[in-house]
Amino acid sequence: MTRYGALSLLRGGLSGQTNWQPAWREPAPKSGYDVVIIGGGGHGLATAHYLAANHGITNVAVIERGWIGGGNTGRNTTIIRSNYFFPQSAAFYDFSVRLYEGLTRALDYNIMFSQRGMWMLAHDRHGLEMLRRSANAMRLNGVDAELHDEAGVRAAIPQLNPNPRFPVLGGLCQPRGGSARHDAVAWGYARAASAAGVHILQNTEVTGFRIAGGRVTGVQTSRGEIGCGKVGVAVAGHSSVVGKLAGLSLPVQSYALQAFVSEPVKPCLDTVVLSPATGTYLSQSDKGELVMGAGLDLFLSYAQRGSLPWMEQTAAGVIELFPQFSRLRFLRQWAGICDVVHDSSPIIDESEVAGLHFNCGWGTGGFKAIPAGGWCLAHHLATGEAHALAKDFGFARFRTGALIDEAAGAGIAH
Ligand SMILES: Cc1cc2nc3c(=O)[nH]c(=O)nc-3n(C[C@H](O)[C@H](O)[C@H](O)COP(=O)(O)OP(=O)(O)OC[C@H]3O[C@@H](n4cnc5c(N)ncnc54)[C@H](O)[C@@H]3O)c2cc1C
Repeated sequence: MTRYGALSLLRGGLSGQTNWQPAWREPAPKSGYDVVIIGGGGHGLATAHYLAANHGITNVAVIERGWIGGGNTGRNTTIIRSNYFFPQSAAFYDFSVRLYEGLTRALDYNIMFSQRGMWMLAHDRHGLEMLRRSANAMRLNGVDAELHDEAGVRAAIPQLNPNPRFPVLGGLCQPRGGSARHDAVAWGYARAASAAGVHILQNTEVTGFRIAGGRVTGVQTSRGEIGCGKVGVAVAGHSSVVGKLAGLSLPVQSYALQAFVSEPVKPCLDTVVLSPATGTYLSQSDKGELVMGAGLDLFLSYAQRGSLPWMEQTAAGVIELFPQFSRLRFLRQWAGICDVVHDSSPIIDESEVAGLHFNCGWGTGGFKAIPAGGWCLAHHLATGEAHALAKDFGFARFRTGALIDEAAGAGIAH
C-alpha cells in the first residue's frame, strides 16, 4: 500500500502521477473464506480491518450488493458524539470517539475528523432539566460535558435567532463531538483491509445461507456460493431481511431517515447544533453546504427517498434557529433505512445459528459507532467471546429484559 503523504505527493508530481495504485483491489471471489462479512458499509469494512489488524485474520471477504459506503454510511449527517446516559453506552460510544481521534493516522487516510463540538439546546425548563441530568451522567461516565445557560450558548453560537419562538434556556455541549467525512471512513477502512489481504466484493448480493447442523457454513450470492467458517452481518436497515434468510426473526424495525443539504456557502457555522423542540439538527460541511436532518419517518418502509413534508418541517426548524438561512436553497434530499431496536441500543452478538453474528440496531446513530462496532464484532468473530464493551448489547437482553433504554435515558429519538 502506497503511504499517503508529502513524499508520495512529490513522487507523483515527478512521475506524472503514475505512482498511484487503486485504493482497494477488486479480486474475483474465492470458493471459501475464514470469515465472510455481509455489508460493505462502515461497520462491515471496519470489522474486516480489525480482524486483520487486531487478530491477524486476513482470509476474509466483505460482500456488498452495491458499492462500498453506498448505504447509510454514505447517506448520514456524520455527527460523532458519545453523549449517552447509561454507563455501558457511554463506555462503548466514547471508545468509538477515541478510535475516531486516531483514525486518520491509524488508516493513513484523512477522514477529516473535526471536533467542533456538538450542542443540544433546551427550549423549556423540562428540556433544561433533561440536559442537566445528561451532563451529570456523562461526567460520571467520564465523558466531556459542559452545561451552559442562555448567555453561554449565545456566546458560543452567536448566529442563533435573537427573538426565537422557542426560547433558548440553555445548552449541553460535548466539546469532543463533531463530524467526519463519511465516504472517507468507508474508503479508509476498505483501503487498509484490502492492503491486509481482505477481498472486497462489490455488486455481489447475499441471497441465502448454507446452514448445516445449526451452524453457518456458507453464503449464497448473486455470484455463486461461497463457503466460510463464520459470518458477520452488518447491513443496517436490512438486518431483518438478511436475518430472515437464515430463518431468524430479529427484534428490529426499519424506518427511513431523511437528510438534506443546502447550496454551499462560505463558513458560517463552526459547530453542530441539535434542537429537540424543533426536531432539527444541522452543521456545515467542509464543502460549505449546511447538512440538515430531522426525525425518522413515522411509518415502516424500505423506500430510500425523501418527502416534501419533512423538507418543509426541517426548513421551518432551521429558520426558527437561524433566520438568516431562510434564503438558502436546498441542493439535495435523500433517505437511508435505519434499523431500530426497542431500547435504541445496538445488537453485537452471535445469533442462535452458530457462527452467524450480527452488528445492527444502530438506528439513526451508527456512524459514530463504526470504529467501536467493527472492533467489537471482529473481537467476537475472532475469539468466540463478546468484547467487554459489547457484552450487554447482545440478544439475551430481549429475553431477560435487561434493556439499555437509551430512548428514555439519553432521549435519543430513534
Ligand atoms: C439520513 C441519515 C442520517 C444519519 N445521521 C447520522 C449521524 O449524524 N450520526 C450517526 O452516528 N449516525 C447517523 N446515521 C446512522 C448511520 O448512518 C448508520 O447507523 C451507519 O451508517 C450504519 O452503518 P452500517 O455499516 O451498519 O450500514 P450501511 O452503511 O448501510 O452498510 C450496509 C451495507 O449492506 C449492504 N447490504 C444490504 N443487504 C445486503 C445483501 N443482502 N448482500 C450484500 N450487501 C447487502 C448495503 O448495500 C449497504 O451498503 C444516519 C442515517 C441516515 C439514514
